Amino acid sequence: MAVIETDYLVIGSGIAGLTFALRAAEHGRVLVCTKRGSSDTATSWAQGGIAAVLGGDDSYESHVEDTLTVGDGLCQRDVVEMVVREGPAHVRWLADLGAQFDRDAVGEFELGREGGHHARRVIHHKDTTGAEVQRALISAVAAHGNIKILDDHIAIDLLSMAKYSGDPGCFGAYVLDARTGEVQTVIARATVLATGGAGKTYVYTSNPDTASGDGIAMAYRIGARVANMEFVQFHPTVLYHPHAKSFLVTEAMRGEGGILRLADGSEFMHRYHEMKSLAPRDVVARAIDNELKMTGENSVFLDVTHLDAEFVRGRFPNIADRCLELGVDVTASPIPVVPAAHYMCGGVATDAEGRTNIPGLYAIGETSCTGLHGACRLASNSLLEGLVYGARAAEAVRDEAPRRPPKVRPWMSYDATDSDDAIVVALNWDEIRRFMWSYLGIVRSDKRIERARRRIGLLRQEITEYYWDFKVTPHIVELRNLALVAHLIIDSALQRKESRGLHYTLDYPDKRAAFEKDTVLEYPGGPPL
Ligand SMILES: Cc1cc2nc3c(=O)[nH]c(=O)nc-3n(C[C@H](O)[C@H](O)[C@H](O)COP(=O)(O)OP(=O)(O)OC[C@H]3O[C@@H](n4cnc5c(N)ncnc54)[C@H](O)[C@@H]3O)c2cc1C
Repeated sequence: MAVIETDYLVIGSGIAGLTFALRAAEHGRVLVCTKRGSSDTATSWAQGGIAAVLGGDDSYESHVEDTLTVGDGLCQRDVVEMVVREGPAHVRWLADLGAQFDRDAVGEFELGREGGHHARRVIHHKDTTGAEVQRALISAVAAHGNIKILDDHIAIDLLSMAKYSGDPGCFGAYVLDARTGEVQTVIARATVLATGGAGKTYVYTSNPDTASGDGIAMAYRIGARVANMEFVQFHPTVLYHPHAKSFLVTEAMRGEGGILRLADGSEFMHRYHEMKSLAPRDVVARAIDNELKMTGENSVFLDVTHLDAEFVRGRFPNIADRCLELGVDVTASPIPVVPAAHYMCGGVATDAEGRTNIPGLYAIGETSCTGLHGACRLASNSLLEGLVYGARAAEAVRDEAPRRPPKVRPWMSYDATDSDDAIVVALNWDEIRRFMWSYLGIVRSDKRIERARRRIGLLRQEITEYYWDFKVTPHIVELRNLALVAHLIIDSALQRKESRGLHYTLDYPDKRAAFEKDTVLEYPGGPPL
């Protein structure tokens, strides 16, 4: 079995992982493992852009206040201030790397506006910002002699010193080469989780298939603290069409004047928020959920037909083309939209450099919980967070001393055989995602959460048996992680006896001062199932 040694192991090739890789490669060898192709990331799917203070009529104070307001009392002010102030330099770094952002006639960044922002501050590349950022990062990484990327390599579990001695540190990971089935042992001075979100926990999601919460689950299994998992952001406007799998209709469309309407053409957002269609996304998602329940309709509609057709096609070419393929001309008829799971505000708890409570283990990007988003994320702050924390963690790892046990145990399959019952994986996967949508969705209650809790306990037992009986495959790795992440969402939601930010429960519809704190989960007594 192969043993690979490197200075820094990065798990994930989105904006956070590749930013870290490029920065850290200046002082060490970097190995990036990514479970599918290098561009199979949520980053590639980002549409709206990156929030940063770059306009003359904007200010740090305004971006900080907007972030704190949307975060609903749980953001850490010092973290927000740090990210907002450092943000613009990181956006310029990306542009210097070759990312082509839209510019105005005099060559300045053209700035978009999105929900919850009181100024134009979203840097973008039409409506395909993420794909452009991913392209620029990958081409820079490919040209760097100190970085190696392994596609189709899925991390299974982190290597923990605790299994050898009293030291809780992390020294790498077991990684499965999905093409050969071989499990490699990767040993590193620092291990960086940049595994993205967990949208696949829900049956309706805007996320790519990679978003199964692997980093959160792996970290938790070796004793890392995980925080605020109840705060799942539902994007209000995902295209409603039987042939459109996970296609997001960017918030920037509402930023440019798009109006939400019911099937009869009437507006409804004025009944929910003074910013109407531009209200923060949790407010909009709940409003749509409520309207759909009251009217019995399948979707609401986002109307941009009153905007100049040339402008709409030029500013949102990707959305206009995709909708047209499905028979909707966005310049002539409103777009049918519904809410879907979009962003995980919780994750592995870190300090301002991405350090977790496990020595040698870092978490950056969507998989982390840094204190930036609090109870709800402000639109376009997540790419920004990936950039800032990727760079900060790359500085912090310089100080990591090598740690490893004298003799590292290889991955053991014992007498595991090839799976004879793949249907178990498919069925469990489907069941979890459906009950999470029904019981831990936009509107929750203790009764619904308890129902989910009973089910997840049984399913995790079944999945664990399956995991140990059969040879490991990417699907079973993801299912095991997805089930644990669902469990963490359920347990966190049960602890929060109030409604705040993205967590809304019928039993406690108001905010309560006693809960103005993070929900932190950890397994002090050793690894769970
Ligand atoms: C449709 C859509 C639109 C969005 N629009 C915006 C926007 O306009 N602005 C904004 O700020 N944010 C936006 N977001 C959110 C933002 O894109 C993500 O939060 C951000 O890209 C996350 O970056 P990341 O580097 O943390 O993770 P990702 O980009 O998701 O990358 C995760 C990586 O980890 C890999 N991985 C996962 N598990 C494993 C494992 N076990 N082993 C090996 N590799 C693994 C994946 O394959 C992938 O390479 C959007 C998200 C979506 C889905």
